[in-house]
Amino acid sequence: MIIAIDGPAASGKSTAAIGVAKCLNITYLDTGAMYRAVTFGLIDNNIEFENSTTIKRYLETIDIKFSESSSGLSLILNNRDITKEIRSTIVTEKVSEVSALESVRKSMVSIQRKMAEIDDCILEGRDIGSVVFPNADFKFFLIADEKARAERRLEDLKAIGEESSVEKVMSDLINRDYKDSTRKHSPLKKPNDAIIIDTSDLGINEVIDKIVNIVNQKRTLQ
Ligand code: C5P
Repeated sequence: MIIAIDGPAASGKSTAAIGVAKCLNITYLDTGAMYRAVTFGLIDNNIEFENSTTIKRYLETIDIKFSESSSGLSLILNNRDITKEIRSTIVTEKVSEVSALESVRKSMVSIQRKMAEIDDCILEGRDIGSVVFPNADFKFFLIADEKARAERRLEDLKAIGEESSVEKVMSDLINRDYKDSTRKHSPLKKPNDAIIIDTSDLGINEVIDKIVNIVNQKRTLQ
């Protein structure tokens, strides 16, 4: 079984997907973290985003893994834990540029399909229901108003010790969503057959319950 969750930045996808994965005892895949890892790797290796040949070569050398720890899911890039680094402002500012590159998308989609074929899986990102798994068993598209999204992202930043403001975070989110939805390859867009959930005024457990109920209802009918 594949559950696809897409939506704009900070719409509550990760928290919902983690909760649903726990409830249904299935694997969770944070595809945004993978694009962030590549962005970090390129910056860390001083590879320019315009240098398509070096980027392709770099993509052949990377090994991305998720590892479960007491503090949650860690992202390991070539044996290095970069869980904290991928949430930094510098990576967040550059990730849309990197994720727009065709070679990066091809490489990530191929890894995501391989990771998800092992188990029942819930994947969240921008192109899961439209490109990665167009035949997913369930497709959800999460939205939330800008203020709610900015407040959530501010909390994430606080957790890694970065200061910002609602206004700055909001303008960054709008900017990133614009880039993600207007890029040439696999832009962020709601698949026609996805169920929209507006999370602005919902508690996290309400979002999780909604998704789990829809999944369980269909599964009982089958
Ligand atoms: O979900 P998160 O905000 O961590 O995603 C970071 C970035 O990764 C997005 O802004 C987008 O540019 C890219 N992304 C993508 N396709 C996905 C998941 C994320 O292009 N499936």
